[in-house]
Amino acid sequence: MPPDDAMEHAGVGTPVYLDHHATTPVDPRVLEVMTPWFAERFGNPHSTSHAFGHEAAEAVETARGHVAALIGADPREIVFTSGATESNNLAIKGAARFERRRRNRRNKLVTLASEHKCVIESVGDMAAEGFETRILPVRGDGLVDPDELHRAVDDSTILVSVMAANNEIGVLQPIEAVGALARARGALFHTDAAQAAGKAPLDVNAAGIDLLSISGHKLYGPKGIGALYARRRPRARIEPLFSGGGQERALRSGTVPAPLAVGLGEACRIAREEMAAEGDRLSALSARFLKGLQERIDGVAVNGDRCRRLPGNISIRLDGVDALGLIDLVPDLAFSTGSACTSAAVEPSHVLRAIGLGDEEAASSVRLGLGRFTTAGEVDFAVDHLAEAIRACRRAMSAA
Ligand SMILES: *Cc1c(COP(=O)(O)O)cnc(C)c1O
Repeated sequence: MPPDDAMEHAGVGTPVYLDHHATTPVDPRVLEVMTPWFAERFGNPHSTSHAFGHEAAEAVETARGHVAALIGADPREIVFTSGATESNNLAIKGAARFERRRRNRRNKLVTLASEHKCVIESVGDMAAEGFETRILPVRGDGLVDPDELHRAVDDSTILVSVMAANNEIGVLQPIEAVGALARARGALFHTDAAQAAGKAPLDVNAAGIDLLSISGHKLYGPKGIGALYARRRPRARIEPLFSGGGQERALRSGTVPAPLAVGLGEACRIAREEMAAEGDRLSALSARFLKGLQERIDGVAVNGDRCRRLPGNISIRLDGVDALGLIDLVPDLAFSTGSACTSAAVEPSHVLRAIGLGDEEAASSVRLGLGRFTTAGEVDFAVDHLAEAIRACRRAMSAA
């Protein structure tokens, strides 16, 4: 357990990492379990004609069980991939292309304007392949608009993709309701759970989920591994993206990276055990941060629904502050703006736009993400430094 808030800022190592939506450190317990599978126990898990392959295959299957358990799935429903980007591409393109190959009349894909770029662009790629696509607006609180969804999802819909938790504003979508609607209309329900997995309870059966994406490096596992849950009963039928050896139920050809799979499994096992307590601790720390900041400065507003959100997410607008300028003033804090630096240009985030923020509000937004190893001391340090920098920003702005 991380130390409590005893001393002032003594002992706070800098820079303080407050960007856990971008990535998380590998938990030391995960690293320990992974390590032997790189060099000592290096077998190819698909080469089961000898002991090297056998032991790797066994370790991969144990890991598959841990991933499945985290979301209430059967291990046979878990496909290892390289990460959530690949899982999302596989789910969306795979479902659409399977349907077309079967010459069915369903032709529509539905998603939200606040989804991760890899979902929106996968859907866009399918529009280029001739599918009908709908990218629905979201409400000001970041949540799906049930009326929009009811209008869009009909018996021509192949798949509905709605994320479980947003990577920028942290809001938790009502996935049970989305799943129930999709099922009632005979459509598949895919959810990008890269942020939610291991942070919020997920049950594929309770939520009527057919396809679900997970990323290792968002839940204290390694980078370069993820998983796609694909329902067996009734079967969510998808076409693979890759041609090859037919590994992973022929849905994902290529050698499963055993060390990474073992790491993802252990990360899921730990998350399942510790999620409830960790969520309580992070909610308290987020509240402490907001209260502290609001006591020191005014003009702080939370982006997105205040209650339905990831416990470690703090997405805020700071009146009269340019987020990029602010970040330069606090090199001891690692956090992000509400903007995506795509190529050379800085564009307002499509998520903040989707919830109705203007360019200026978006440009004054920052995202902080607290995580498993964030301490109360670090939160207090961040509040003090940020409040001071915000005051400096505002002074500079009013002087200009
Ligand atoms: C990080 C993230 C992804 C991409 O995951 P990778 O494993 O890095 O490919 C997709 N969706 C959401 C919501 C994310 O936060």
